[in-house]
Amino acid sequence: MNYSEFDLAEGNDIYFLRQSSVIESFYELSENIQTLALATYMAQLASEVVPEGTESEDTLSLLLNTYYILAKKGFDLKTAKLVFEIKLLSLHGFMPDFLGCNNCGETTDTLLFDITSSSVRCCNCTNVGFELNASCLNIINYVINSGVKRIFSFTASNEIINYLSEIIEKYCIAQVGRKLKSLDYYNSIF
Ligand SMILES: [Zn+2]
Repeated sequence: MNYSEFDLAEGNDIYFLRQSSVIESFYELSENIQTLALATYMAQLASEVVPEGTESEDTLSLLLNTYYILAKKGFDLKTAKLVFEIKLLSLHGFMPDFLGCNNCGETTDTLLFDITSSSVRCCNCTNVGFELNASCLNIINYVINSGVKRIFSFTASNEIINYLSEIIEKYCIAQVGRKLKSLDYYNSIF
């Protein structure tokens, strides 16, 4: 998998490729089928979230940084997927405010995240949604508020990563409106 620069010339109805050069090679991604499946899912998810015909430097930077830590650092796949999904959705305005209850403003240690209405509420305001404890909220807020190069620099237990991964994956599916085939494939081999 490569990140390439393309020099395009516009013809009557089509573009001609004049020249292309590889800027960064992530050949290591294809050495492991799970990593390749995850990288494919990430690219597909990004293309679903970014409006067609628009450029998103932040998204490209997120994708390249994530590929980098997967290819060159052997970073944990599950954590990389979770962090990528949170940051991608956040960059494109799909994430609600996780700093406190969206209704009354209460900043308790536990908040409920309702995927259907995309809202975060305290236990006094609702009894609907996935429970997010302080550890979950810390991860989400850290990723949302950190620069792309720092988003992977945190520690969390496997239990928290697993729990949060399920919730954020469900939220991604809800926001995209369908389950991507590349996600099905990734989950089938993981
Ligand atoms: Zn509340």
